[in-house]
Amino acid sequence: MTSAISNTYARLPVAFTHGKGVWLWDTNGRRYLDAMAGIGVSCLGHGHPKLVEAISQQAARLIHTSNLYQVPEQEALAQKILDISGMTEVLFGNSGAEANEAAIKLARYYGYKKGNTLPTIITMESSWHGRTLGTLAATDSEKARTGFGPLPEGFIKVAYNDLNAIKAAGDKEPRVVAVLLEVLQGEGGIRPSDITYMQDLRKLCTERGWLMMIDEVQSGIGRTGKWLAHQWADILPDVVVLAKGLGGGVPIGAIAARGPAAGVLGPGSHGTTFGGGPLVCAAGNATLKTLEDDKLLDHAAKVGTHLKNALKEALKGVPGVREVRGQGLMLGIELDKPCGVLVSRALEAGLLINVTRDRVIRMLPPLIITESEADEIVKILVPLIKAFNAES
Ligand SMILES: *Cc1c(COP(=O)(O)O)cnc(C)c1O
Repeated sequence: MTSAISNTYARLPVAFTHGKGVWLWDTNGRRYLDAMAGIGVSCLGHGHPKLVEAISQQAARLIHTSNLYQVPEQEALAQKILDISGMTEVLFGNSGAEANEAAIKLARYYGYKKGNTLPTIITMESSWHGRTLGTLAATDSEKARTGFGPLPEGFIKVAYNDLNAIKAAGDKEPRVVAVLLEVLQGEGGIRPSDITYMQDLRKLCTERGWLMMIDEVQSGIGRTGKWLAHQWADILPDVVVLAKGLGGGVPIGAIAARGPAAGVLGPGSHGTTFGGGPLVCAAGNATLKTLEDDKLLDHAAKVGTHLKNALKEALKGVPGVREVRGQGLMLGIELDKPCGVLVSRALEAGLLINVTRDRVIRMLPPLIITESEADEIVKILVPLIKAFNAES
């Protein structure tokens, strides 16, 4: 069925025809509980009337004009992003990788303007920033990087959640211009950082004149129960990278900047044909408005805590379960052996999950999920984990 498509994904043998809320239906009419939301994208679930209406109306009115002209929908979305982030300017792109690429370019240009000829960015072990050449160089995944060298230079990788590792790297390399990191690593296995680490890193970046750039592509837009996950640490970074949930399902990415990162990129220094177009920005505006009007951040925090506690309770003392972790509706269960097979077993049981870093079961359900729907995840998933762990 997919023979016309390049073989870059090991796809599951299922195709969906439509969805409503957290539910998806396949071509045989079977219903699935979607605990992945298209990899953290469909934050309002499927078929949300407000989002559907905004996209339909905008499509009928005007789909694309380009950045040669003013785009009111883009200006409105930028203003909203500033309101929720505390930043002062926004640059749009079309995906997470493209937004991170823009952040990397911004950091390099920031160094270039100060006469730094090899501006260097510190990134983290087990990080994920995308699959373009620049973002691959920033990403710590041997699997994703192998065969694609030479990758751009100017990146140093250090241990995650370890301030001394960053200090040591900065002491050794005077050309550092920025630190790029996730607050809560997603592809890296739902690995959180400490609040004090983020606060100390904020101070360190200010002291040394480095840009603090936070990749909130997966953790942002309400996923952890705040607009942005770093807001749990009550800090203001210099650059915030957004994508996934921002458009509620349409492809959009953005970076927001402030302080030393604001005003770095001028006319002609960066650009995009599609980025920030009327259609996706109308979707972004409807998504952010609905998240706010329906108080879905608090809801995500509450249901997320409920789901995490329910999973912890049900998996307490189960051999082979290392940890249940994460925040809000970005949750992971680490097992002590590779468990990729659980993805297809869950699918057969009517539940969409994912496994990352071989042994971490990942859940990123739509932020509209109810407590009883969350209980359904537990009801389906826990017996599968128990049976799997009992196998030798
Ligand atoms: C998914 C992801 C990306 C890449 O986004 P794409 O839209 O797939 O390019 C970058 N950073 C993080 C943290 C992500 O989770």
